[in-house]
Amino acid sequence: MRYAIISDIHGNLEALLAVLGDCGKKEIDRYICLGDIVGYGANPAECVKQIIDLDALCVVGNHDHAAIGLTDISFFNPYAKAAVEWTASKLSKKHKSFLSHLPFIITLEDITLVHSTLDGPERWRYILNDFDAEVNLKLFDNLICFIGHSHVPCMFQEQYNSKALFDFLNEMTIQQKTIINVGSVGQPRDGDPRASYVIYDSELRLVTFERIEYDIATAQKKIVKSGLPKILATRLQLGK
Ligand code: ZN
Repeated sequence: MRYAIISDIHGNLEALLAVLGDCGKKEIDRYICLGDIVGYGANPAECVKQIIDLDALCVVGNHDHAAIGLTDISFFNPYAKAAVEWTASKLSKKHKSFLSHLPFIITLEDITLVHSTLDGPERWRYILNDFDAEVNLKLFDNLICFIGHSHVPCMFQEQYNSKALFDFLNEMTIQQKTIINVGSVGQPRDGDPRASYVIYDSELRLVTFERIEYDIATAQKKIVKSGLPKILATRLQLGK
């Protein structure tokens, strides 16, 4: 099976459509979404519709939970809070019901899927370094655990430190237990503003990291026009 694994779309329809256009040229058998379909961007409902139409296997993210009132947003920063409230007002009953039924963790074939971490996924913690990864590498039996949440594509293995693995980022055959962050479609934060996603070929055990250009200017204009905080538009072109 060839999987396209996308995450952290955050209501950015321009980025999502660009990624799906690229996937269309790459013989994808199944789509996987690692959560945070909504939040920050100007097209939350349209992005949820795309994920439903793709029949993507999908786990829930913290912004999805927040948009349906399941996450306490009193600790969110002011612009994230404003985005959550705006997003909630744009989603239909059908979309909210879809988000409310998404699981925290899915396992299939030789992969495990979670938005944040395996040790209490509802706490929305991050895997940012080898220390965080060490705990989580012990919590799955499959070959790969795909994650999102930090918006920074990277990978962690027991025998290597994550810095060394950055050198292999474009394409890698996986032979030992690995945690892979697929990066963000709609709000990359690694300094590269292009949309990020991963293709996984389970027969070859081959992971390919993809970066796709999209119409950032249109996504920004929509954010500003909708009255969402301007910083959410600015950061798209910075990739931060
Ligand atoms: Zn996110």
